Amino acid sequence: MKINKILVANRGEIAIRVFKTAKKLGIKTVAVYSTADRNAPHVEEADEAVWIGEAPSNQSYLLGDKIIEVAKSLKVDAIHPGYGFLSENADFSQKVSDAGILFIGPKPYAIRTMGSKLAAKESVKKYNIPMVPGIDQAVSDPQKAIKIAGEIGFPILIKASAGGGGKGMRIVDKESDLESQMQRAISEATSAFGDGSVFIEKYIDSPRHIEIQILADSHGNVVHLFERECSIQRRHQKVVEEAPSAILTEDLRNKMGEAAVSVAKSCDYLGAGTVEFLMDAQMNFFFLEMNTRLQVEHPVTEWITGLDLVEEQIKIAEGEALSFSQNDLKIKGHAIELRVYAEDPLQDFMPSMGRLTTYKPPVGENIRVDDGFREGMEIPIYYDPMLSKLITYGKTRQEAISKMIEAIDKYEVEGIETTLGFGKYVCQHKAFQSGKFDTHFVKKYYTPKRIHSFYKEEATMAAKMALKLYLEEKQKVKLPKTEKNAAVKTLFNS
Ligand code: ADP
Ligand code: ADP
Ligand code: MG
Repeated sequence: MKINKILVANRGEIAIRVFKTAKKLGIKTVAVYSTADRNAPHVEEADEAVWIGEAPSNQSYLLGDKIIEVAKSLKVDAIHPGYGFLSENADFSQKVSDAGILFIGPKPYAIRTMGSKLAAKESVKKYNIPMVPGIDQAVSDPQKAIKIAGEIGFPILIKASAGGGGKGMRIVDKESDLESQMQRAISEATSAFGDGSVFIEKYIDSPRHIEIQILADSHGNVVHLFERECSIQRRHQKVVEEAPSAILTEDLRNKMGEAAVSVAKSCDYLGAGTVEFLMDAQMNFFFLEMNTRLQVEHPVTEWITGLDLVEEQIKIAEGEALSFSQNDLKIKGHAIELRVYAEDPLQDFMPSMGRLTTYKPPVGENIRVDDGFREGMEIPIYYDPMLSKLITYGKTRQEAISKMIEAIDKYEVEGIETTLGFGKYVCQHKAFQSGKFDTHFVKKYYTPKRIHSFYKEEATMAAKMALKLYLEEKQKVKLPKTEKNAAVKTLFNS
């Protein structure tokens, strides 16, 4: 079935990202928005826009029934859920289909199975896919938990089966902490996800987060689009991602790719999805979870494969078969993404709210910015504090890193703090450059002392640059000697 009109049940950069491809394919677009997003760019980018409620997401972007009503009244053919919000809600996907509208994503069964980390483990069991040592059942009895922890050895991780976005995890180092931590994990999981099921995994030492992008059509074809490495994280959530990984061998890439394809087959997957793995220091990989939607970091995969993932999602939803097979796919070059969050890296990455008094994203060859903000806008407190995604490309990893540093330097943001400076710190760090890093990068290398000296160095560099410019200008503009000295003094005292 040909799609003529798409509604995006989301906001910000991802809504705009989907509209871009829809326009390219000649598909009409519909935006929905909350009161907080009245003047948001995603509203302007769409052909039609409908207000759906107040700012809190449970009064707007999470109102599945209301969104479906809007879609029906505007004769929409398909709903794209983006990421977050309703994207991994099996009931929503079911209701969309029941309303005679295409859901751009997998069937409810796959969403439901993979949305629960426990059901996911159960589903992939028969495919011989390596899993993190632990239990594959919910546990609520502390005595049983102590016994299991004793068997796998401390430290362990208590995880919420319904968790996501880095939330719902607790590391336990010793037996005496287990009972209290478990109680806390259960009550947190209940209030955050409406499901108190928790389970136990071995806490992997120095792990790297490596995930595989997959695509599955409705004709039984499943391919993988190689890996993305997302080990630079804070609070178990990604900040810097890249493709390909600096450390994967061709052999491992194939093995992980095949494992990911099996995971997709285990739940009769349809569309674009991501299978996440952890890799330990000995390069053993373990299945972590599957995300049944378009991932935040999909642009790095687009860049190295030359594919438009949203276009693939749309064609798959229309019932088309994939136009390529696994052997047609090749990695070309290297891409890096920095999530530019409205957060203060000097204050433990706490949200930094306010108005974007200056906002000038960089432009140039091999630089891509996916964003949903404009100069002068307030960052709403109700939603994810991600401002934009800065993506750079190079023929080699080193080129992509250099391009990222250049793009960060060109990015002008004032009025709020962002993770741009952190991104530069990462790109200039030896551990990142050499590829020898893991998910503990922030803990290991980003101590307050080092950050301050890094930012001080940056300030000195800026002053030196200003002085150089000044001395060059001096050749042209003749200042009286005293004024010149005063200018140099001001530079170094500021
Ligand atoms: P990705 O998995 O695409 O790399 P994240 O883990 O950062 O990215 O999640 C993407 C978005 O979805 C974020 O806005 C995050 O807050 C949200 N999210 C993901 N899973 C959940 C969940 N179970 N509950 C609430 N929010 C979630
Ligand atoms: P979410 O649904 O929140 O994305 P994940 O299971 O994908 O949860 O894990 C998110 C991150 O938490 C991983 O990228 C990793 O950094 C850390 N993590 C998860 N499980 C483990 C584990 N067993 N050992 C060590 N780190 C882990
Ligand atoms: Mg995850």
